[in-house]
Amino acid sequence: MTEALYARLPVFLQNAACYWYGHKEAAVRLGPAFERYLQEMQESEKWSRGQICAYQDEKVRNLVSYAYHNVPFYHEQMRERRLLPQDIRGTSDLAKLPILTKEDVRANADRLLSTNARRHRLLPRHTSGTTGKCLELYVDPSAVAMQWAMWWRHRMRFGLRLGTRHVNFTGKPVVPQAQSAPPYWRWNLPMHQALINMQHLTPAKIAPIVEFLDREAFEFYSGYPSIIHALVSAAKHAGLKLHCPPRVITTGAENILANQRADIEEFTGAILTDQWGMTEACANASQCRKMVYHEDFEFGVIERQEARRVDGVIEGSLLCTGFATPDFPLIRYEPGDIGIWAAGDARCECGLESPSLLGIMGRMDDYVITPEGSRIMRFDYVFKHTVNVRECQVVQDQIGEIRLRIVRRPPYSNADERLLEAEIRKWISPTLRVRFEYVTEIERESNGKFRAVKSLLSIDRPAGRSSDVSCDGASNQRVC
Ligand SMILES: [Zn+2]
Repeated sequence: MTEALYARLPVFLQNAACYWYGHKEAAVRLGPAFERYLQEMQESEKWSRGQICAYQDEKVRNLVSYAYHNVPFYHEQMRERRLLPQDIRGTSDLAKLPILTKEDVRANADRLLSTNARRHRLLPRHTSGTTGKCLELYVDPSAVAMQWAMWWRHRMRFGLRLGTRHVNFTGKPVVPQAQSAPPYWRWNLPMHQALINMQHLTPAKIAPIVEFLDREAFEFYSGYPSIIHALVSAAKHAGLKLHCPPRVITTGAENILANQRADIEEFTGAILTDQWGMTEACANASQCRKMVYHEDFEFGVIERQEARRVDGVIEGSLLCTGFATPDFPLIRYEPGDIGIWAAGDARCECGLESPSLLGIMGRMDDYVITPEGSRIMRFDYVFKHTVNVRECQVVQDQIGEIRLRIVRRPPYSNADERLLEAEIRKWISPTLRVRFEYVTEIERESNGKFRAVKSLLSIDRPAGRSSDVSCDGASNQRVC
């Protein structure tokens, strides 16, 4: 009802509503706690590996002890395993505890809440579960301030300053879909943002948006990579250029595909840097100047579960233990994301000693199963040479076949279809059947995210190998 009412307001009142929302959010996100965390984190970022390990070990010990004494779910889980708080001395002992799936959280939400929790103080959060069913959980307000401090620390690695005006490209319908004349943007002044929503990034409406971006000459853009990519595609389609491009673009919240990155960088000439986080606020990793993801270790610990190893690079699911919400603790929580990391005790050339990841890819349930039995999540390389594909979603409805839902870019022809088939045979499977479906747009999920690979198969997800956490780096799961 609020959204319907908002959509009927005149533009100046919509801006006032955005101001009010921004003012309310800024109090939580950018208040005194944020400033303190930011200052502390800019210092701790320079810590040595030893300091980082000692810090995380202590945080894990305290969290598990608190959970054992105050959180019914964990008390029971640990008693079942005959574990006492002193059995968990640090990150290397986390593997003694069970993995927490989204389904576990959904089924045990009440028992995951500590008996000390003042529920009204906690912030309710919603995210999607593996079954598509909504997952409800709680986050401590300090976790939100900490997330924003981490996100700003990330931006500051690229020379951005607090208070810099920028554009946020969002999935939220801040400019109602039905609006057919500019301005296709709104202002969130307390957070120094212009807001542009994805629904208007079309060739028909792009000219005034590009003109606005040039006029305001924002220093940076932020948002979902697929939405910023939509801006680039629409502008290129309309033959437009950005004369005052941003210096930096920060992305997050969904996988950034290689072709999206290439298109955005080519069109804007900006540095594109990504970070990985989650609504559940229990882990975060952000890229450094070498484009390696560094674990934001102050916020939580990320365990890596090795699934397979190719040419010295390891791939597997990530398990997160968050430090910031002890009253609703998520310990060894499996968000369903897959990480890629280097074998051995690799140190990043940037000089930061926090544990790193080379990449973070698809959700665990977004993969295609080939007739050969492989589970394939990355299709970027298939589209490397197909310049006439604007956007593509790979859908699997049945074993043995995939559907490529394609938004064509002229002069797309049969030759492109043949090329795609050949690439799939080459990279994915020699026997997988490919069906082509041509669409004018690919709808986003209800949360605004673009899913590059979508599986509609009703099968269980694969179980990851149990985590092997080591302090010496020999197992390559974690280096501390
Ligand atoms: Zn680095």
